[in-house]
Amino acid sequence: MKILVLNCGSSSIKFQFFDMDGEKVLAKGLVEKIGLNGSCLKLEKKSGEKVVFEGEILDHKVGIEYVLGVLTSKKHGCISNLNDIKAVGHRVVHGGERFNESVVIDSEVIAQMEKCIDLAPLHNPPNLKGIEAISELIPDMTQVAVFDTAFHQTMPKHAYMYGIPSSLYKKYGIRRYGFHGTSHRYVSQRACDILGIECKKSKIITCHLGNGASVAAIKNGQSVDTSMGFTPLEGLLMGTRSGDLDVGVVTYLMEKEKLGSETASTLFNKHSGLLGVTGISSDFRDIGEKAAEGNELAQIALEMYAYRVKKYIGSYTAAMNGCDVLVFTGGIGENADHARKDICEDLNWLGFEVDEQKNDGLRAEEAIISSDGAKVKIMVIPTNEELMIARDTQLLMGD
Ligand code: AMP
Repeated sequence: MKILVLNCGSSSIKFQFFDMDGEKVLAKGLVEKIGLNGSCLKLEKKSGEKVVFEGEILDHKVGIEYVLGVLTSKKHGCISNLNDIKAVGHRVVHGGERFNESVVIDSEVIAQMEKCIDLAPLHNPPNLKGIEAISELIPDMTQVAVFDTAFHQTMPKHAYMYGIPSSLYKKYGIRRYGFHGTSHRYVSQRACDILGIECKKSKIITCHLGNGASVAAIKNGQSVDTSMGFTPLEGLLMGTRSGDLDVGVVTYLMEKEKLGSETASTLFNKHSGLLGVTGISSDFRDIGEKAAEGNELAQIALEMYAYRVKKYIGSYTAAMNGCDVLVFTGGIGENADHARKDICEDLNWLGFEVDEQKNDGLRAEEAIISSDGAKVKIMVIPTNEELMIARDTQLLMGD
C-alpha cells in the first residue's frame, strides 16, 4: 500500500511518499516559499538524487499539484498514476479535546478541526488547506488526520489544568494540551521495541529537542505529562521561544513597553529563547560554536538549556515514581552529544548515567548511551513522525 504523508505549514509543504510494504520511502521533499518569490519544490528521490523544480507556487493547492506531478512524472516519479496512492495522511497540529487518536477525515472531522483554529490560528489553517486541496485534486482519496496533541489527551486533570479560574477552562478550553505527540509516541514505542520491553509496563521520559522542544512523561504507554501547554510556548528554552516564564513578566512588559498582544506574542515566541538570550542565533550549533570561542551569553544559554531539561527530567521522574528509559530525539537531542552530557550530569543519584564513550560523537543513530548497569537506560532515537503518520493511515485503512 502506497501512502502520501503531508505536513502543510503556512508557506511550506513537507511530503514523504511511502511504500508500506517494508515501510520504504519512495520519495520525499519540500515545497517552500508558497506565495512568495523564489517558490520551489525540492525532491529527494529514493536513489538519493536531489532535484529542484522552480515555479510560481501561489498557494497550497498549486504546491500539492507540484507534489503529485513529480510523483507521477516519467523522469523523476515513482508511480505511473495517482490511483497508486491509496491514502493521504496529514499532520494536524491541534485536535483540541475532541481528538485523542488519528481519524479518517470526513465533513464532521473538518468541522471539528475548524473549531480548533482558535487554539492554533497559525497551524490548523494550512493543515486544512492541504486537506481541501487533496479533496479537490483527487476527489475520492481517503485522508487521515494525525494530531500533534492527540497523544497527550491521556494526561490527568491535575496535570493539564492551570491554576486559574476553572470557568475559563469551560469557556475557552484553556488547559494544557501538549504538542510533538506523534514524535513522543514514535520514540517511546521504538525504545520499547529496541529494548524488548512492554510499553504498557514502563516509565519513559522522552526529550524532543529541536528548534521547538518538549519533554513527555509516558507511563504504561500513555502520556501523563508534557512540558508544552496551551500553546507550544510553555516549558523548555527553545530556539526562539522563552519557555516557562512568570506571567508577571508578560503583564509588566506589556505595560512598560506599551506592547499589544500581538507584539508581546512575537516577543516571547519569535525573539526569545536561545536567540533572545544570546542575541546571536536560534541555532544550537551556532550557540555551541560561540560558547566554545568564549562568548559568555552563549555559555549561559547552553547552561540554561541543559538546566531546564534536567529539571523536567527530575520532575517527571517524581511524577511517575521512577523512570526506566530516557530518550533523546529532535535535531539537538539526536546530534548534540555535549547537550546530552550536560543534561544528565549530576542526575546519577536518580539513576541517569551517560557513558561518555558511547555518547561522544554519536549523531542521528539509534543507540543506548547509558553506562552498563545504570538504573535508567538512556537512548538516542532519531524521530520519524512521517512514518508514524503513514502507519496510522495504513491502520485506519484497515490494512
Ligand atoms: P529540528 O527542529 O529537530 O530540525 O532541530 C533543529 C536544531 O537542531 C537546531 O538548533 C540545530 O542547530 C540543531 N542541530 C542539528 N544538528 C546539530 C548538530 N550536529 N549539533 C548540534 N545541534 C544540532
